[in-house]
Order: sequence, then C-alpha cells, then structure tokens
Amino acid sequence: MSGKTGVAEILRESGAWLKGHFLLTSGLHSDQFLIMARAFEVPRLGRQLGQMVAELFREERVEAVVGPAMGGVILAYEVAAALGARALFAEKADQGMVLKRGFRLGAGERVLVVEDAVSTGGSVQRLLDHLESHPAQVVGVGAVADRSEGRANFKVPFRAAWSLAVQQWPAADCPLCAQGQPLRRPKEE
Ligand SMILES: [Zn+2]
Repeated sequence: MSGKTGVAEILRESGAWLKGHFLLTSGLHSDQFLIMARAFEVPRLGRQLGQMVAELFREERVEAVVGPAMGGVILAYEVAAALGARALFAEKADQGMVLKRGFRLGAGERVLVVEDAVSTGGSVQRLLDHLESHPAQVVGVGAVADRSEGRANFKVPFRAAWSLAVQQWPAADCPLCAQGQPLRRPKEE
C-alpha cells in the first residue's frame, strides 16, 4: 500500500472512516466521520500510517516529533520511530497546548508537529503558538488526513498523506435529518 489509496483503504477497513449521519465537534451535521483512534487500534495499520506521514518529511532531517494529545500521541511515536527521531506529546492547559512531563526541545532542534486528522487545525495552531517559546525550529506540520479543505493554514509547510472533503450542514438544513436518520456521536459511543 502506498499514497492516497493506501490511507483510504486503511481508514475504511479499520472502521476509522464512517458513513452515516453524524454530529461534528463544530455542531454541524455530516454524512462522513473520521474516528482516527480506530486506525491505531491495530498497531500494524497505525505503523503504516506513521510511515506514510514520515515519508512526507524524509528530507527534513527531523530530530523530534510532537503531537497534541489525544490524536497526535500515537502518531508522533510512529512517525518518530520511522524517522529515527524523538517522540513527544503536548497536552491541553489553560494557556493552550503545551509540553509538560519534562519534555524539552533543544536550541535549533528540528521539530515536526503531527496530528491524526486536521479539520480546523485549532489544536495544531495552539501547539505551534506554544512552540514559539522554545528555541527549536519547527520544520512542518504532518497529518494522516486533511479534511480542512484549505482552511488549515500554518506558517510552516503542511503535508497530509490523504485529503477528504466532507459535506456538512447546520441541523436545520441537514438532508439526513429531513430523512429521519438517527444522529450519531461516534466519539461518545
Ligand atoms: Zn442531520
């Protein structure tokens, strides 16, 4: 498996890419949902996804990979393993998305930020903001899935192994609500 087809197959077969009627974090309704944890439930598949993201940054001499919790934790580990880099994660705090647990980045250290799926890019941006206070150099943002349709816009290069355009509607305009299809919240199930 390689490239975009490979990612789609892994997400479909692992149950990470759902079709149906879903409530998104944004409050909008959609006919598709990515529940990326399911792809990492099978380590062999999670490892393949990590390798695909790593390949996008193979030339960047990455020394440390940082993922925002929860979605970026396992991916950062797998990408770091594939690149021979360190694996760190950041966590939510009052001030945003920060490094805790004694994680430090060295002066000039080449850092890659990774997230499993980017929609608005909010968590990644909060982490990038935090990393400005570190002496390291962020060389890019990597993701397995980009469903931002161009809305995610960072100061560093953003590369994803796969892109997905998701139709979404306010509840009042949702054709699936109109058909009476039950609404699902996959992260709560
Ligand atoms: Zn609906």
